[in-house]
Amino acid sequence: MFSQLKFDNQYARLPAEFYHKVSPEPLEGAEFASLNPDVQSLLGFTQADFNVQQFILYVTGVEAWSGSEPLAMCYAGHQFGTYVPRLGDGRAVLLGQIRDEQQQLWDLQIKGSGITRYSRQGDGRAVLRSCIREYLCSEAMHGLGIPTTRALALISSKQTVYRETFEPGAMMLRVAQSHVRFGSLEYFYYAQKFDYLQLLADYVIREHYPDLEGQTDVYQKLFVMVLKKTAKLIAQWQGVGFAHGVLNTDNMSIIGLTLDYGPFAFLDTYEANYICNHSDTSGRYAFSQQPQIGLFNLSCLAQAMLPLFDDDPERAAEFAKAELAHYQTLYQTAYLNISRDKLGLFEQEKGDSELMASLLALMEGQVDYTLFFRQLSALYVEQESSQNALAEQFSNSRGVSDWLARYRVRLFQEKSNDTDRHARMKTVNAKYILRNHMAESAIKLAENENDFSEVERLLTLLRRPFDEQPSYAHYAQKPPAWAGEICISCSS
Ligand code: AMP
Ligand code: MG
Repeated sequence: MFSQLKFDNQYARLPAEFYHKVSPEPLEGAEFASLNPDVQSLLGFTQADFNVQQFILYVTGVEAWSGSEPLAMCYAGHQFGTYVPRLGDGRAVLLGQIRDEQQQLWDLQIKGSGITRYSRQGDGRAVLRSCIREYLCSEAMHGLGIPTTRALALISSKQTVYRETFEPGAMMLRVAQSHVRFGSLEYFYYAQKFDYLQLLADYVIREHYPDLEGQTDVYQKLFVMVLKKTAKLIAQWQGVGFAHGVLNTDNMSIIGLTLDYGPFAFLDTYEANYICNHSDTSGRYAFSQQPQIGLFNLSCLAQAMLPLFDDDPERAAEFAKAELAHYQTLYQTAYLNISRDKLGLFEQEKGDSELMASLLALMEGQVDYTLFFRQLSALYVEQESSQNALAEQFSNSRGVSDWLARYRVRLFQEKSNDTDRHARMKTVNAKYILRNHMAESAIKLAENENDFSEVERLLTLLRRPFDEQPSYAHYAQKPPAWAGEICISCSS
């Protein structure tokens, strides 16, 4: 069974302080609610060899899977700006690591797997609604071309879990090249275990940045790589209108993945300071704050890596400061490139950044972010009438007409070809995103009827967010009025 899978549990080879070896606790009445074929094949499961019944016994901890070495990873992190010295996987286990045919290592992780040493007050479980949200959103992000952890399977159960009320418990199988977080390094730095800090950095380099191996100033170079990946990732989030919701350093991936989907949301109406997490009363993680928070989180990472940068603390700090100073430019360049792509601009002009900013200012609080850019992708440069439907959405009709006129002149000047530009823009301006109300409908059907058909439909739809998919066109609409009442918090 699963004979083609090669476990190669590298994390379990690290010293005992890196984790707590613990098996998943079986979940009453567990069954597969959804299996994602894309991730199955990514891992090298062939359908012929994939025995669903056996697989569920393994992943829910009813039977030990030969070759797996389940463990909860230890980490710390800055939560809402405050350092918490020990967090760790409180409700997840890394079942094992699988080496694929290209020698790439994949973590197979179960979320909602029961109590671990790091559970603190928690019950170690995850509720169905949060598993569905993560299951769908990780695949939606992948469909949008944004680095993310992936989702292999959704497991429903008959077990109830108490949050504000009793809710169905569930598990999600998560797959990623790494689950190492900024907070994983912070843990060893603040515990003053610099040997272990180095060991962890070496592990990250060996498995995820192999090109750096054997180079001089290797830890400095590692930091620069993480800095670049993080700046790019956050620019990509801003481009699609994704708000993460809990950008604590324990939710920041060392390989630049979108990690730990909690109270996330895609913008419906454009609102720069949109706060998706109802527990975030100060708006620390508001949409517009994400780029700045990226820098804060990278500063925390730099602090944790100081002993690795240089033996001389002053030189180490100077290096960190100099590299962090590049963040704004890295972020802004990445975001400007994305803005040009979204606007269908081939050439680079000085005013491009301002062109985007002034559009967003006009959209603020009234225009649907995703739908607008998709509609803009069908504008004809020399047909003024083609802008009418776009302009109608704005209350400031004079402002939007001026903007559209300026934009059309800009396109005209670079001799933009409508057909080419339309095609290109439709590969960056998605037609479909996972709006909160879409996830909510799938959740309600699953919770009330044990019916996962909407989960399946959304999974299919969001895998190809840029394609027209006419039979799903009703998903490319503004949210219904009840969407405004959905309350998403950290509780999951
Ligand atoms: P999150 O906000 O989901 O990233 O979680 C922050 C920390 O709390 C992580 O260390 C989680 O493992 C832990 N945690 C969250 N929910 C639970 C739970 N129900 N039981 C135990 N630990 C949890
Ligand atoms: Mg987390």
